[in-house]
Amino acid sequence: MSTIRFLDEAEEIEDHVIEIRRLIHANPELSFQERETADFVAAELRRLGVKAKTKVGGTGVVGILEGSTPGHVIALRADMDALPLPEPSGLEFASKTSGVMHACGHDTHVAMLLGAAAILAKHREELGGTVKFLFQSAEEAAEKGGGAIPMIEAGALEKPKVDYVFGLHIFANFPSRSFALRPGPVMAASGVFRIRILGRGGHGSAPHQTIDPVFVAAQLITALQGIRSRMLDPLQPAVISVCSVHSGTRNNIIPDEALLEGTMRTVDEATRKKVTSLIPKIAKAVCRTFGAGCEVEIEKGYPVTRNDPAVTARVSELLKSIPGTKTLEVPPLLVAEDFSFFLRKTPGTYYFLGTRNEEKGCVGPNHSSRFKVDEDVLKYGAASLALIAYSFGSK
Ligand SMILES: [Zn+2]
Ligand SMILES: [Zn+2]
Repeated sequence: MSTIRFLDEAEEIEDHVIEIRRLIHANPELSFQERETADFVAAELRRLGVKAKTKVGGTGVVGILEGSTPGHVIALRADMDALPLPEPSGLEFASKTSGVMHACGHDTHVAMLLGAAAILAKHREELGGTVKFLFQSAEEAAEKGGGAIPMIEAGALEKPKVDYVFGLHIFANFPSRSFALRPGPVMAASGVFRIRILGRGGHGSAPHQTIDPVFVAAQLITALQGIRSRMLDPLQPAVISVCSVHSGTRNNIIPDEALLEGTMRTVDEATRKKVTSLIPKIAKAVCRTFGAGCEVEIEKGYPVTRNDPAVTARVSELLKSIPGTKTLEVPPLLVAEDFSFFLRKTPGTYYFLGTRNEEKGCVGPNHSSRFKVDEDVLKYGAASLALIAYSFGSK
């Protein structure tokens, strides 16, 4: 067992980890454009004596730290991209790029993983195996396939071949200082649907001379929820959300078309197939009922993120050993992640670190402009990543 006190080590570098997080937070970059972030990461890794390869599958960076004795090869992954969202926080380190914000906490992922790298590099003499630090681009760009696949295709899991892979996400739904995980499916499969309703425009005063796509869209948005409420097993998790509705130019013109876009989430393959076949069926039927045409596109997003049960049980025990934290076993979350692609290749675990803290006003959900991180949790995240790599690395 380790003689390294990982939390003490993380506390020693806590100020530096927070400084890194703030620097990245102030300079957010969108998916596939994380160039400055990647340059910073590579420079920081090299400063720690960790070999760094850049431009791995786009803007990805892979750091490699060899321990002093043979052992397993461990990969720790952090995503680096921000979201197209303005930041109204007024914080001194608020985003300097208008319309772009680290609202999913990937700035903290980068900072925590660099913190773990610092701890592990310092203890290289006691480290078995090899640790690979994967700084990945474009997790948020599911519609473009994400950044994990290009990184895997560029060989991030090979030479040396990775035995175990781990990822961590900061999450506003769980209380500060708690870790959350589960064996098996931990996050959903996602899919994107686009429905174009083809009506026939005209004057707002004479709807009978038109086929009103706005009216049809309203019926369809409601009808799609019938899949969730009436056509799927109530005990099977699934979500269908129409999140974007576009039509029309002014108050008295019935437009020609309406475009609905949305996301679907499921945690098993049979349900995913069923939802994928029902959406076009219902869309076409509703449109036909009112005389409108209909075009439906469905794109497969990320697959289910599935944690290896044995690895997860071991990670859970390690997390429980970190003082001042709690470890919760949670039901699957309906968010989706391209970390799922890493877990399809290599056993491992994806876990969460809570950041909800009402006293500090850290209550806004991930992906909202009100998302606010309790920075006191970063040391726990850094300690946990270092501890996991250290423990799984030694044979
Ligand atoms: Zn996100
Ligand atoms: Zn995220």
